[in-house]
Amino acid sequence: MSFVTRFAPSPTGPLHLGHAFSALLAHDRARAAGGTFLLRIDDLDRARCRREWEAQIFDDLAWLGLAWPTPVLRQSARLPRYRAALETLWTRGLLYPCTCSRADIRAAASAPQEGAPLHGPDGVVYPGTCRPAMPPTGPMPAEAVLRLDMARACKVADKPLSYMEKDSRIELRDLPRTVGDVVLARRDIGASYHLSVVLDDADQGVTHVIRGQDLAPATQIHALLQRLLGLPAPTYEHHRLIRDAQGKRLAKRDDARAIATYRADGATPRDIRRMVGL
Ligand code: GLU
Repeated sequence: MSFVTRFAPSPTGPLHLGHAFSALLAHDRARAAGGTFLLRIDDLDRARCRREWEAQIFDDLAWLGLAWPTPVLRQSARLPRYRAALETLWTRGLLYPCTCSRADIRAAASAPQEGAPLHGPDGVVYPGTCRPAMPPTGPMPAEAVLRLDMARACKVADKPLSYMEKDSRIELRDLPRTVGDVVLARRDIGASYHLSVVLDDADQGVTHVIRGQDLAPATQIHALLQRLLGLPAPTYEHHRLIRDAQGKRLAKRDDARAIATYRADGATPRDIRRMVGL
């Protein structure tokens, strides 16, 4: 089987050691398997993405010794594809519009009868305030938050509901309770991370998704969407996270650990590999 993997950064800040580890690991795995390493730009949230950061990403990755086929895929060019998939889910009665604000959700989820609010991959599990008793009919609203009716989705999705994490099969359990009705279309961008990443991986023929442990909880949603949309299911590898001296996960705002900063201080690509334990 051919091996296709990818690194999919969002150009919202400088790449740090954690990104370097993820990209190098994916690249090394592809090389060892005689496969392909793709670079994809996750720039769906255009308000937060900058072309300057994108240029810096290309530059840092090339400096690290990575190469990838061009042109790279940009999510910002793919909205029609995402909307078409949403239409499919809407027609099947699996989506509904939601008008709750974050504050509404927090308040409803922490109402006394609800017990302690449950947290899922996207934060507080949506308490279902806007979920209709019957699937909405008529055309899909153009500018609306659209949520997946998780209980219905799990009922109609092709079984088995599971995904491969390296050599183990992970079962998807109790998604309506532990994950809830996730947002598949944000009002401002017309799609969401979960939807776009699944469609991009499928359309690019990605066979192996190699990414940080922080995204492991989201993989349940991705595996379900693959079943709902009839997409192939890649194998996943969620790797350890690179942490700072205090044990905190690195974030884009940790400029001190930006690859660009290490470069400016005279580090070599070999130094970076050593720092992330490769
Ligand atoms: N763009 C996402 C991020 O920077 C990664 C998406 C993925 O690997 O699935 O966190």
